Amino acid sequence: MFIPVTDKIYLVAPYERGNFPNSFSFYIDDEVPTLIDTPLTFWAQAFQAEMGARPVKRILNTHFHRDHTGCNHLFPDAEVYAHPADIPPMLSRENFMHFYGLDRYADRNVVEGLMSWIQWRPSTVTHELKDGQIINLGDIELTVIHTPGHTPGHCVFYWEKEGLLFSGDIDLTSFGPWYGNVNSDITQLIESIEKLINLNPRVICSGHKGVIEHNVRDQLNRYLDRLLEKEENVLKALKKPLTLDELVERKLVYGRWGKPEEQFHYFEKISVMVHLRRLQELQLVEEYQGKYRAVNQPPCQCAHM
Ligand SMILES: [Zn+2]
Ligand SMILES: [Zn+2]
Repeated sequence: MFIPVTDKIYLVAPYERGNFPNSFSFYIDDEVPTLIDTPLTFWAQAFQAEMGARPVKRILNTHFHRDHTGCNHLFPDAEVYAHPADIPPMLSRENFMHFYGLDRYADRNVVEGLMSWIQWRPSTVTHELKDGQIINLGDIELTVIHTPGHTPGHCVFYWEKEGLLFSGDIDLTSFGPWYGNVNSDITQLIESIEKLINLNPRVICSGHKGVIEHNVRDQLNRYLDRLLEKEENVLKALKKPLTLDELVERKLVYGRWGKPEEQFHYFEKISVMVHLRRLQELQLVEEYQGKYRAVNQPPCQCAHM
């Protein structure tokens, strides 16, 4: 699919649906022909066919995940921009595994399954993105907004004049925000989504949902609510002390697991660990004798004054 969004911006997809592991890229046909993200290598041929002979001078990557950087290598002469916090896993397989926690928390099955499926390969990066930086493409000027949480270096790109935001994986899907890497950070993710709610864009070009033009702010609010609901459910479950494994089995993050189950189990576990880290920082949960439990808040501070 190669679908116009404006007279210079096109949605590019090797497959008509954008839900993971598919994704949407956006092509900007300006003085500096630019791609926002590229899909998984798995789609390389179809992506190339959609792009045809169109030139690409620059790639702006919202973050390091393979469904957003997988086909960077098809454009060896293009400049590639990424945030410094997300560059290490684009350059080295070891760093990629480390960001996913695969070197510490996964068994061999999960590691082999995931790594062969996503076909990791290095991507060159030529330029670093900075929060507030203006990227001039000709008619279109994009402001870089650093929106960490999903990954440490996740960025979105805002065409202020038209109120149009390329939002990467702050993607407004009904699943809600994803935080299944060991260095995902829910507090940062909440702040990043709030930043976009305050920005109040007119249009969002999402990496998995495509072009969203209606009720954008409401959809951002609902998206944030999905995350807060999951956190609330974790807290509720911990009224009774549970081990990490017991909490994972409740499937509070994914709801249900697809296939292969060991991969869903793995990402459920990491997501729960990310929740627990934040809830412990907030002193809402404590670890006690190998189990986690919600901390009872003192009923009334004033009684002790
Ligand atoms: Zn992602
Ligand atoms: Zn994605």
